[in-house]
Parts: sequence; structure tokens; C-alpha cells
Amino acid sequence: MYNHQINHIVIAGGGTAGWMAAAKLSQHFSQTAVKITVVESSEVGTVGVGEATIPTLRRFYQSLGMSDIDVLRKTNATVKLGIEFKDWYQPGSSFIHPFGLFGHEANGIRFHHYWMKLRELGDKSALEEYSLGIAMARANKFTLPLENPESPLSIFDWALHFDASLFGRLMRDYAINHGVKHIDAKINHVNLHEENGFITSLTLDEGQQLKADFFIDCTGFRGLLIGEALKTQYVNWSQWLPCNRAMAVQSELVGEALARTIAKAHSAGWQWKIPLQHRQGNGHVYSSEFISDEKAEETLLQHVDGKVLHSPRKFRFTPGRRTCAWNKNCVALGLAAGFLEPLESTSIALIETGIEKICNAFSRPFFNQELVNNFNQLTAAEWERIRDFIIAHYKLNQRDDSNFWRYCRAMSIPDSLQHKITAYCERGDLLHYPYEIFHPDSWLAIYSGFNFYPERFNKKVERVNPKYLQQSLAVMRQSIADAVASFPSHKEFILQNQAQYNAFE
Ligand SMILES: Cc1cc2nc3c(=O)[nH]c(=O)nc-3n(C[C@H](O)[C@H](O)[C@H](O)COP(=O)(O)OP(=O)(O)OC[C@H]3O[C@@H](n4cnc5c(N)ncnc54)[C@H](O)[C@@H]3O)c2cc1C
Repeated sequence: MYNHQINHIVIAGGGTAGWMAAAKLSQHFSQTAVKITVVESSEVGTVGVGEATIPTLRRFYQSLGMSDIDVLRKTNATVKLGIEFKDWYQPGSSFIHPFGLFGHEANGIRFHHYWMKLRELGDKSALEEYSLGIAMARANKFTLPLENPESPLSIFDWALHFDASLFGRLMRDYAINHGVKHIDAKINHVNLHEENGFITSLTLDEGQQLKADFFIDCTGFRGLLIGEALKTQYVNWSQWLPCNRAMAVQSELVGEALARTIAKAHSAGWQWKIPLQHRQGNGHVYSSEFISDEKAEETLLQHVDGKVLHSPRKFRFTPGRRTCAWNKNCVALGLAAGFLEPLESTSIALIETGIEKICNAFSRPFFNQELVNNFNQLTAAEWERIRDFIIAHYKLNQRDDSNFWRYCRAMSIPDSLQHKITAYCERGDLLHYPYEIFHPDSWLAIYSGFNFYPERFNKKVERVNPKYLQQSLAVMRQSIADAVASFPSHKEFILQNQAQYNAFE
């Protein structure tokens, strides 16, 4: 198989995707002669949204040697323990998808089977009472998880709500300090090799030719290299994910910042609230088939708490992904690779996994078609797993107050998702497919949030002494409640860490 050598990588685009890739690849190639250049246009700008993350982001910046507290402070971030879904199951309902576990698995049987048995015995405790992450989120308290995996206080994880432009700056500074060259210019043309169709160079503003052997397309929704130049097809998932527009607006923060994202369902979509230390991000994601832009804007503004800081920014998108994220000598990352609505804050996570796969492919500065095929297969699986997780949020709703929600409940779903739902419904099994970012407890949070429980639980649970089960689950609930009572508030945690940091600076 022919090996293509890499001497120079050009990253087109300097949004979150471009600078994250530049930072990580500058570390990865630090002991080699490979050069990296980022070309971006300040005239074009970045998408300017993307403030909620999942815990994988913390592993990403930690791998660059950055600490949580450092990033928290430099990006005006708050803690995110999960997402609260308001009104999704039915108007007036609320559940939290935490970054953490429910109860403890015992004898190889997942906790929810024990909990279901307890319910059969007449106990009324809710599943969420067995989640430390949810208890902390509801009380708006926070402390760092203990590192001892045996401790019940290690069973939650956390992420950040951050200012995306400040995070981009952190990544850019790291990359430039590690030798990445930065060019601020507009890409006017993408030049292809006449025979093999590979990208040979980019023509910039003033006619300058920027040559390289490998290109990473981080040019956002336009996909200048992967789409416009290489004509890579796009798989459209609109039949399962009807939302295709968004409007975002920042507002003044009112009251204490919550350590959770709020995702509130509306008649034709949903609205996010993402608190930062200094302001709040808000956005309405909706389907243009079911609501007009004017009405969507009115709904957004009606549900913003504080003073609005600018007029709403509008986005149109097609849910889906590129058929091949890696085509010829170009890999797409970020919005250029595709888009899944931000319901579970997965876009930045997909940038991370994309970068990780590029690093794995380049254990040496060469690539061949086998590596490309492997990359594309893994990427497709990761995207489809997340797609299914998001679809489940719509499919399981029991709202009867609008055509949008009725459509979502009645729509057909991908076989991969149907298979999962059936396994859970019939046997209480939480299947975990390869390359799936969300673990079984995340699925459990969504299923139980929609009041969707299995028809039967694991028979082995019948053998557990009912008294013992009642007592041990009561102890579990109490230890969570006691622990949370002793934790500092989210606000105190942020202030303490800011103050400590300032003292050491
Ligand atoms: C409404 C909305 C909400 C979102 N919320 C979240 C969230 O909560 N969590 C999350 O993880 N993700 C979220 N995302 C996704 C997230 O914003 C993106 O994944 C992330 O910002 C990466 O964007 P990007 O770098 O791919 O593109 P962009 O930010 O658009 O950057 C594109 C870059 O390409 C450059 N460029 C474009 N054309 C040219 C040209 N001709 N010449 C030179 N340079 C060019 C631009 O200058 C820019 O630097 C959201 C997205 C949307 C639309």
C-alpha cells in the first residue's frame, strides 16, 4: 500500500476546531520535522457559540498539561454536572442527565434492576436519589471528585461551561508557543492535483500559494476544502432530527450560576441556558417546519432571564455528517465534518475524538488508504452513536401539545437505536456499542427521565433478601444526602479557586 509522507500540515480555519487541532498536533509532532500552519481569516470570523462541554474536554486540555482550575479561571467558566431537561417528558416535568453513575452495580447486575425490585416492594424513592451528581446539581453544590475509585464520592464526573472564544485563545497560545505558524488571510481557492485530485495548495488573499502535503479542514459549516473543493457528500439525518435552525443570544447573569445546563422544551424545539461567571448564554434550537423564525425569536426572548446583550444571532444547519471525514489528503474537523444539534454538547467532543484519531493514524508521519478507511469507519460509528442518543430524547417524549412533539414520537428511528430500546424494554439491558461516548448510565438517565422502564428486571435480583435490599438502598440514599450537605456551594467553589489562583500568581 502506497505511503504518503507528511512534511507540512495546513489547518484551514482558526475556530475551536482549528486551534484545538493545532495545539494537540504541535504536541504530537514535537519530536519530528513536521511543520504546522494555521490559516484563518479574521474577516470571516468564527461561529462564536459552543459553550457547554462534556468531561472528555477536561482530559483533552489535561493532556496538554493544563489544569482544571487554570482553564476554569482563564475561560470564565462554571462547573457543569449535567443537563437538566425541563418539560421534555411532559410539560412541567424535569430530569437531569448527570455525568456519573446511579447507585452501585452488585454481583455483575446493574443497579437499576435492584431499584426496580425495590419499587416492586412498595418503595417510592426515585432513581435520581441514587445519583450523587444529580443531588449536587439540584442543590447547586460542588466539590472535586475523590480519586479513590472505591469511594462513593468518586462516582460523578464534571465538565465546564466556558467562553468559547477565550478557550480558543488558550489553544492558540499553546499552539503558537509550540511552533505553529499563524497566517491571517482569506482562502480564495483550493488547488487540486490534476491526476489524483489531492489538495496541493491554498491560494490566499494576495495570491500567495500555501502548499502542504496534508490539510485539515476546520473552515466551519462551509467546509471549503472537504465539501466545496473535494465534493465530499453529506449524509442528511433530518428525518430523525427535525431541528434545523438556532438563534443564540447572551444575557446578563441573574442570580447564582447553576452547575448544570438547562435544556427547556418549547413547542417546536428547545432552549438552552448556559451560565458563565460573567454572563449567560441562551439559544433556541427549532424546526423551521413547525415554527416561523419570528415566533422562534419571540419564544427565545420571552424565556431569557436577564437583560439581553445583543440581538440574536441566527444559524441554519442540516443535521448529518460528511460521508468520509477523511477524503484524499484532507480531514474535516468541527462544523466542516458535520453537525449534530447541541442538545448533549457533543460537537467539541467530536473534535477531540477526531484529533485523537489523527494522532493515532500518524504514529509515523505517513498515511495510506488503510489508515484512511479505518479513520472513516470509526468516525461514522462515533457520529451514529451520538445521533441515536439525541434521537432518543425526541422519540420518547409524551407531549401532546404540539405537532412537533407528536411528529417526533411517531417518527421511525434507525435500526441501531430500535435495537437498543428493545433490549432495554424487554430485558432491562443497557447495550453499549463500540465507540460510544455516552455510557449506559447516561442512557438510563434518559430512559428514566422519560418514565420509560423495562417490562421486567433481572431474575437474579429476586434472590436478594428484601429487608437487606431496603436497608442498603436507604443507606446509599442517606450517604449521598449527607455528602451533599457537607459540600460547598458552586459559587463558593468558584470563588475559592479563583482566589487561590490569584494568590499564587
Ligand atoms: C447554535 C449552536 C450551538 C452550539 N453549541 C455547542 C455546545 O454547547 N457545545 C459544543 O460542544 N458545541 C456546540 N456547538 C458547536 C461548536 O460551536 C463548534 O463545534 C465549534 O465552535 C467548532 O467550530 P469550528 O471551529 O468548526 O468552526 P468556526 O468557529 O465557524 O470556525 C471556522 C474558521 O474557519 C475560518 N474560515 C472560514 N472560511 C474561511 C476562508 N475563506 N478563509 C480563511 N478562513 C476561513 C474562519 O475564520 C474560522 O476561523 C454549537 C453550534 C451551534 C451552531
